[in-house]
Amino acid sequence: MSDCRHCNQALSGPMAGSGYKYPPQPCSNCMARAVARSMVAHDAVRTRDTTELRETLARTLPGLTYEQAAAMVRKWWQHDHPNGISKEQPSHG
Ligand SMILES: [Zn+2]
Repeated sequence: MSDCRHCNQALSGPMAGSGYKYPPQPCSNCMARAVARSMVAHDAVRTRDTTELRETLARTLPGLTYEQAAAMVRKWWQHDHPNGISKEQPSHG
């Protein structure tokens, strides 16, 4: 799926793949994963305010548009939270 060792490790287990002391350098998916597991992503999901998320993604993934970066973050979020946040009920939207 990915040729990045960190990403493959992360994909193999829910919360595996932290730490980048081994090569290769973290790829853009690694950066998106780090953001997805940060409070910034949690807050964006909880409050639906993406201001801080946009700023963080612009800083960590400057080569991607917000839509591209957010899609990668969403993928990792769903990997970590296959059932969503228990308190989150998608009542409308
Ligand atoms: Zn990676």
